Amino acid sequence: MECIFCKIISGQIPATIIAESLNYIAIKDINPVAPIHILIIPKEHVEKAGELKNYEGDVLKELFILVDEIVNTENLSEEGYRLIVNTGKNAGQEVPHLHWHLLGGRKLGKLG
Ligand code: AMP
Ligand code: ZN
Repeated sequence: MECIFCKIISGQIPATIIAESLNYIAIKDINPVAPIHILIIPKEHVEKAGELKNYEGDVLKELFILVDEIVNTENLSEEGYRLIVNTGKNAGQEVPHLHWHLLGGRKLGKLG
């Protein structure tokens, strides 16, 4: 198994775990670009966002329940935050295991 996020999920390499649910794990990004930079990662190895079309509605809802939990724990609700998915080379995806970046704690620049 080569995938770095699969290795984190299986406990082979360490990470700072922020939150966890049945199907997702949230960790601190090792190279943060904002005061709060958390990665929300499906435990299943999925590469592209479109592959989520195969997920049951409850599993997708679980993701946004976890996001909301983290937003509240990190006190991001009032000041706001950004949730991003990079897919493929034009978006600069480095790790080919789908993940959401949750960014907050400072004013973020425009997208693109
Ligand atoms: P992306 O460019 O969207 O694929 O983002 C990959 C993210 O994973 C980057 O922000 C990296 O800093 C982060 N990253 C890579 N390796 C690790 C790791 N071992 N633990 C935590 N974050 C990582
Ligand atoms: Zn993986």
